[in-house]
Amino acid sequence: MARSSIRKAPNVDIDGLLTKFESFLQKKSLKLTTQRRQILEKILEMDKTHFTADDLVDQFRNQRPRVSKATVYRSLSVMVEANILEEHQFGDSYKVYELSEGRPHHDHLICTSCGKILEFFNADMEKLQDKVASSNGFHPTHHSQKIFGICAACWGNGVRS
Ligand SMILES: [Zn+2]
Ligand SMILES: [Zn+2]
Repeated sequence: MARSSIRKAPNVDIDGLLTKFESFLQKKSLKLTTQRRQILEKILEMDKTHFTADDLVDQFRNQRPRVSKATVYRSLSVMVEANILEEHQFGDSYKVYELSEGRPHHDHLICTSCGKILEFFNADMEKLQDKVASSNGFHPTHHSQKIFGICAACWGNGVRS
């Protein structure tokens, strides 16, 4: 498991990302408003690789004028549509986002006790998935592997389910 190689893209080209976002918005007859720009900048500043909508709302706690929860939520779904963010459903009501720009493909291990998210990439597993798909005459476009369970720390604390 090569965890350390999968980090938030260290050199995300902010201007490039803003341009990409702006041209996507233009196609939808929307504008890159100050708020939308600020939301994207906050995402880049956050040190959390995987964040929830509420994590992002928290980032605007002390900002005046306020950026409303509704604006943050709406912007998130537009950024998913624009392929700037990836959205993962990691539980019934647990949705997280991560930047898709400049990050290699990876899959996730999710601790159902503390919510910790670990990333992994395993070439053998990737090959096996392709094999399963092709043996079914299936042409995969993308996939998302999620393994739910107990992380090492929680296990060490006696959590078993
Ligand atoms: Zn845990
Ligand atoms: Zn991830």
